[in-house]
Amino acid sequence: MKRCIKCPGSVHVSEKEIEEGIRKVIESGVPIADKNLYMKRLNTCYSCERLVYGTTCMSCGCIVRIRALNALRICPHESGSKW
Ligand code: SF4
Repeated sequence: MKRCIKCPGSVHVSEKEIEEGIRKVIESGVPIADKNLYMKRLNTCYSCERLVYGTTCMSCGCIVRIRALNALRICPHESGSKW
């Protein structure tokens, strides 16, 4: 498995940290993905080989539950965006 582009080793984030990140995205005023789009994105992530710990994308170092919420974001997969 390739390593994360940003992290030198094992890094885990708590549920509380993820929820805080989600809250910050919502409060930032960026366009938010609707529920269908959000779930479609996350389901793609959950079957992606770049996901580690069930939370983190190794292609960008992002927590996917946070990244997928911003409607303007794309998937950073090296082979081309998956969503
Ligand atoms: S590469 Fe794309 S699909 Fe895969 S985990 Fe990252 S954001 Fe999700």
